[in-house]
Amino acid sequence: MINAPGTNREIHISNVPRYLAPFHAKLHPHFFTDVLIVGGGLAGLTAALAVDPSLKVLVVCKAGLDLSNSVKAQGGIATVWDVPEDKFENHVKDTLIAGGALCDEETVEMIVRRGPDEVRKLLSYGTRFDRDEKGDVLLGREGGHDHFRILHANGDSTGAEIMRATIEEARRRPNIRIWEDTFTLDLLTNDGFCRGAVVFWEKEREIELVWAKQTILATGGLGQIYRETTNPSCATGDGVALAFRAGAVCRDLEFIQFHPTVLYIAGGSRSLITEAMRGEGALLVDKNGYRFMPDYDERGELAPRDVVSRSIVKQMAKTNSSNVFLDLSHKDADWIRKRFPGIAGICAEFGVDITKDRIPVRPGAHYAMGGVLVDQTGRTSIRGLWAAGEVSSTGLHGANRLASNSLLEALVYGETTGRLAGEIAASEPDEYRALPLENPPINADRRGEGALDVTDVRNSLKSAMQRECGVVRNEDDLKHALESINTWSRILLTKQFSTIEAWEAQNMLLVARLVVAGALERRETRGGHNRSDCGPFDPEAPAIHSLFVNDDRR
Ligand SMILES: Cc1cc2nc3c(=O)[nH]c(=O)nc-3n(C[C@H](O)[C@H](O)[C@H](O)COP(=O)(O)OP(=O)(O)OC[C@H]3O[C@@H](n4cnc5c(N)ncnc54)[C@H](O)[C@@H]3O)c2cc1C
Repeated sequence: MINAPGTNREIHISNVPRYLAPFHAKLHPHFFTDVLIVGGGLAGLTAALAVDPSLKVLVVCKAGLDLSNSVKAQGGIATVWDVPEDKFENHVKDTLIAGGALCDEETVEMIVRRGPDEVRKLLSYGTRFDRDEKGDVLLGREGGHDHFRILHANGDSTGAEIMRATIEEARRRPNIRIWEDTFTLDLLTNDGFCRGAVVFWEKEREIELVWAKQTILATGGLGQIYRETTNPSCATGDGVALAFRAGAVCRDLEFIQFHPTVLYIAGGSRSLITEAMRGEGALLVDKNGYRFMPDYDERGELAPRDVVSRSIVKQMAKTNSSNVFLDLSHKDADWIRKRFPGIAGICAEFGVDITKDRIPVRPGAHYAMGGVLVDQTGRTSIRGLWAAGEVSSTGLHGANRLASNSLLEALVYGETTGRLAGEIAASEPDEYRALPLENPPINADRRGEGALDVTDVRNSLKSAMQRECGVVRNEDDLKHALESINTWSRILLTKQFSTIEAWEAQNMLLVARLVVAGALERRETRGGHNRSDCGPFDPEAPAIHSLFVNDDRR
């Protein structure tokens, strides 16, 4: 087990089934690789590119490479670029302030200092960041940053451009094989060592066992456990769930960052309206046109996300309305269209012209600060298993992520895990041997297909999480949420299914159980976790991490 730095409170969870689906090593095809990477977002592909090219790498992702949080990223990537005006110390300081005294300072320092070099690699893959007429990279500024240090591309479509270049680079490498539409169900473990994974190939509807010398988890976020979220459909928390089932220690899962400004048009898409818009001067107004942020925080619209989300929720309650508005109409119309072309297009679909109309917004689940606990090299508590990107808890974000720090984290930890997992895999002998692992099928009466309406359980869970474990929480609501989750878990987690929708629902239930258990135990307001029954954040209160331990696998 890795040492978790800082002060920790353990939360013990039991009755977690080890594997989701039945399998037997004699019954399925086998595939052997040096390094298995679960997830093809920025963290996963960066890891793949960092593995020694003489080794075989398999990247498995449950959707196409074009569906991930990374592809959706808008505002940009934070790094110290404008030197000597900006300094590493400034970026570190801003990250620590946002993190509510729970960041690991050494990790923050390491990531911030490595940032520029990792971003230069993106340039070498052909990423086209926005530039001024002299050819210098244009830098934006976002909430909580004291300096212009956000590199962006195509205005507000940074993730799509970074991923275009990274995917092209990965496809050029002959040692990297990519399996899309391949769902990872569980990790294969033996004697406390991760040996690969059980995967389900959607097209052939077939389970396959992938054996790997080293495995890297890069499955992204869990926003889909909430009804309102900016995350795409693939973000169902699978990585946290399958690592926890295998016995990996997870950390600080109760800290969910709600993005304050998610487009809210009933029946419309829940698109994120980038923070950069506030950085460029957009104002938050209520239904009466009143600019309310200065009433809540002297930093106004540029306060950290949790402060803005909480303020919006309060102002919505005060004015009895279901949303507030972003107003950019005081800026030049041509400049707006050029700077925010993606958002202008999405809003136009719903008849909102962002150059003159106010944009209806409200908070939605956006980013998971917690995840699978890793050390500074990306090692988890299971030998042979690494984690990088949003699925992990590195210590960078603490209780609250500073805007645009997550792509940076995905780059730095992707590189580190890929390089180190590759080094260890290279030192191990080639062995094309499957282990006699199995998960027996359970009684026919406990098979899940048929009577159960899995879609209904998923929707009920998402609504309960939004209502009872959302931007502002309290003990009664959280207890009620946990009761509901336990009831649904008794029904769903004791059964075996054979569809991705049901496996995702089982993962979502487990992850929601961890999030709510952490939120109940944390009797304080800190970062992304706001308890209306515990008073405001006290910077002098001891900073304690939540460690989630699977008692069945100790
Ligand atoms: C709308 C939006 C805007 C954002 N804007 C920014 C921004 O401007 N700047 C910033 O720094 N951050 C931003 N973020 C956050 C950032 O995009 C993510 O934190 C980051 O991209 C995560 O990268 P990742 O590689 O860890 O995960 P992802 O990019 O989400 O990739 C996850 C991969 O795992 C695969 N996967 C998941 N489960 C399974 C499974 N069971 N089996 C197989 N494969 C699986 C998926 O298919 C996918 O390929 C934004 C997020 C969103 C949603």
